[in-house]
Amino acid sequence: MKVTVLSGGLLGTNSYLVSDAERTEAVVVDPVCPYEEVLSLLQPGQRLTAAVLTHGHFDHIEALASYHGAGVPILMHRADEEMLSSPQKNGSLRLSEPLSFPFGADGYLEDGGALPVGKEALCVMHTPGHTKGSICLWSGGSVLSGDTVFAFGDYGRCDLYGGDEAQMKLSLDRFFAKEGEYIIYAGHGDCASYISEKTMRGYL
Ligand SMILES: [Zn+2]
Repeated sequence: MKVTVLSGGLLGTNSYLVSDAERTEAVVVDPVCPYEEVLSLLQPGQRLTAAVLTHGHFDHIEALASYHGAGVPILMHRADEEMLSSPQKNGSLRLSEPLSFPFGADGYLEDGGALPVGKEALCVMHTPGHTKGSICLWSGGSVLSGDTVFAFGDYGRCDLYGGDEAQMKLSLDRFFAKEGEYIIYAGHGDCASYISEKTMRGYL
């Protein structure tokens, strides 16, 4: 899987373009860059098959309407779908233009599910804690961790709507229970080494 970082958006959120090695398909994870911008990064013939949300916070969904308008399916965990239409729940109430989308998801990603990208796939891990429907996406040597895991031992805050510190602890335990090395592509800040983060947090 090939992961391209697309930084931008309201809080410097990391959006990612994830392609299969042969670059036949791609998905955008946390669409904060408009559809047209992401299209220009595709190879000739490469198809953008989905806009995937790691969770429903405003700073991860702000360009969502451009994908919906272009007919790109929006995929997310069911538990965060209510956040798309609610500025109170997605955290955008105090912005000059609160975010409220008149559409929902086109499909749901569940724990243990796989989202195909070309001949490869992203495997879904439901990691509630930052929000009810937060997910992490694993493939090969990479994991897209949304706002669940950040670099330098950090993790997403649990004091916003749908947050739950106890759930976060369980999700982090699950997240760091894998063997091997992965590059962690977080929703904010730097990428990180899975093994380094695991060691720093006392899991190794
Ligand atoms: Zn968030």
